[in-house]
Amino acid sequence: MSCGDPHDTECGEVLDHLYEFLDNEMAEGDCAKLRVHFEECSPCLEKYGLEQAIKALIKRSCGCDDTPADLRTKVLARIDSIRAGQRSAQAAAASADGPPAGHGAPAAATAE
Ligand SMILES: [Zn+2]
Repeated sequence: MSCGDPHDTECGEVLDHLYEFLDNEMAEGDCAKLRVHFEECSPCLEKYGLEQAIKALIKRSCGCDDTPADLRTKVLARIDSIRAGQRSAQAAAASADGPPAGHGAPAAATAE
């Protein structure tokens, strides 16, 4: 779960905070961190099929327009499915250090 390049902010962390970012609920410093990551790490956004949507959303928010609700909804749904996939992958990989509590996801089966 990485594009291979080192980042100050990990790809997974970016996903974790995308909700807040899209909702404009992030501190400005954290927003900047995500923007930096989007600039350095378009491969990971591309991989998720999120690049265009995210860039469009960023442009919108910079232009003080309201984020189009349908686009935002689409992105959030996408993030949800990505994270659901990651959660099972992480559960298999990291058994000691569990992932942070999710958004009321169904209890993950620990198969070990
Ligand atoms: Zn990344």
